[in-house]
Amino acid sequence: MSCIFCKIIANEIPSERVYEDDKVIAFKDINPATPVHILVIPKVHIEGVHEIDSENSHYVARAFEVIRTLAEEFHLEKGYRVITNVKEYGGQSVPHLHFHLLGGKNLGEKII
Ligand code: 5GP
Ligand code: ZN
Repeated sequence: MSCIFCKIIANEIPSERVYEDDKVIAFKDINPATPVHILVIPKVHIEGVHEIDSENSHYVARAFEVIRTLAEEFHLEKGYRVITNVKEYGGQSVPHLHFHLLGGKNLGEKII
C-alpha cells in the first residue's frame, strides 16, 4: 500500500487526529494554509471526486456531517471554506479523496 493517507488511516504515519469514526478520519494538515486547516478523508481508498459513485457516496455524506461538526468545534461560526482538488489540473497532490476544511480568518470572496 503506497497511499500516504491510507498509511495515516492505518497509523503507519503519525497524524494529529481531531476526529475518527467507522467511515472517516480528520486530522490537521501538515502544512496549514489557514489557522484552522483540517483534512477529512474516507477510511477507504477513493482516489478523488472522479471515483465517487452510488456505492461509496455514503462516505462523502459522512465527511460533510463531520465537517459541519468540526466547524462548530473549531469555532468557525463566522464562516469557512471546504475545498477538494481533483487530479492533476485540479492541483491534487495526494490521490486519496480529501476535503480541506479551511478557516480561522476571513478568506475573502475569491478562491482563484
Ligand atoms: P491536495 O494538494 O492533494 O489537495 O492536498 C494534500 C494536502 O495534504 C496538502 O495540504 C498537504 O499539506 C497535506 N499532506 C500531505 N502529506 C501529509 C502528511 O503526511 N500529513 C498531513 N497531516 N498532511 C499531509
Ligand atoms: Zn489511500
